[in-house]
Amino acid sequence: MNKLRVGVLGATGMVGQRFVHLLGNHPWFEVVAVAASPRSAGKPYAEAVAGRWAMPAEIPAEIAKLTVLDVQAIDAISQDVAFVFSALDMDKQAIRDLEDAYAKHECPVVSNNSAHRWTPDVPMIMPEINPEHLDIIEAQRRRLGTRRGFVVVKPNCSIQPYVPAFHALADYQATRAVVCTYQAVSGAGKTLVTWPEMVDNVIPYIGGEEDKSVREPLKIWGKISGGQIVPAESPVMSAQCIRVPVSDGHMAAVSVSFAKKPPIEVIRERWAAFAGKPQQLQLPSAPQPFLQYFEEDNRPQTKLDRDLGNGMAVALGRLREDNLFDYKFVALSHNTVRGAAGGAVLIAELLQAEGRLA
Ligand code: NAP
Repeated sequence: MNKLRVGVLGATGMVGQRFVHLLGNHPWFEVVAVAASPRSAGKPYAEAVAGRWAMPAEIPAEIAKLTVLDVQAIDAISQDVAFVFSALDMDKQAIRDLEDAYAKHECPVVSNNSAHRWTPDVPMIMPEINPEHLDIIEAQRRRLGTRRGFVVVKPNCSIQPYVPAFHALADYQATRAVVCTYQAVSGAGKTLVTWPEMVDNVIPYIGGEEDKSVREPLKIWGKISGGQIVPAESPVMSAQCIRVPVSDGHMAAVSVSFAKKPPIEVIRERWAAFAGKPQQLQLPSAPQPFLQYFEEDNRPQTKLDRDLGNGMAVALGRLREDNLFDYKFVALSHNTVRGAAGGAVLIAELLQAEGRLA
């Protein structure tokens, strides 16, 4: 099979580098265009990321040589690629305008950015949870006046550990939950070197994160109606999001109650058996299994377990009864793999497998 030619917008940033790292040897996709701000444009990719390459392997050789383009070169980029991944740190309206412009140039956009997450006809996809929301693309194309172009977004990294754990128990209807997240510095596009204030420190505030952590799951569990995604109304959630001094990996401590409280062994069985469309279709980036429960009291641990399933699986542990809620547990997911670039690559694999990039 010929690989699809893809572009990465924001390729020099933390998430963009993760795209480059993950796509270096992808069986279906080949990076042929890397784009960023005018600060990086015109330089070879390797030079543009010199001193800030933060991935655990060398830059893929073919990509290192590519000349970085300006993301505003929409005509040239969209003519050269089948679709783009987007990971830009810009003003939200500027991101919306840019992503719409690519879509209107008939170039689909798979985005990490939050800018379009609340556009009612833009699907916010976790491929194991709500793949059916991709059907809204037809309504979006009618609004944009496109034949092929559209925008699809990936939700925030903070929700990736607990939404799958709740979804596997959907029959029991979670009604309310409290979540405290312990989030890595790479979630801010930084490392422990570039953010020395985080060493030996905890910061109890991440701008905008608590709102995203309680609202985005409701869109993901929403229903398509009248050309829009109408968010679900429950569970009602409360979140505290805390920055901790780890490089990668977001952990969540969760307490949850259900309309119908499941027996504890049923929860463990449901988690072990949970598989979504990516697993059924055996997509290249789909972790098998998706959810993995640890019996040990001191697991999951960020450093030991964030790379489970190549960073695409969710690690769960410490399930037990709670004094105030039905149960509590701990969940962990890799924020720049499953929570960012890897999650977006899995969306693109699903789009391709379903023929939606044709
Ligand atoms: P980052 O490391 O700061 O990278 C930002 C990227 O945007 C760089 O490629 C930068 O290019 C480019 N850029 C900045 N200003 C630009 C401009 N005016 N015009 C064109 N390009 C511009 O940010 P990040 O952490 O990778 O995050 C990128 C996006 O992903 C953000 O929207 C973030 O909220 C989202 N996200 C991040 C994570 C995570 O774990 N880090 C998770 C989920 C979602 P230059 O290098 O040329 O400046």
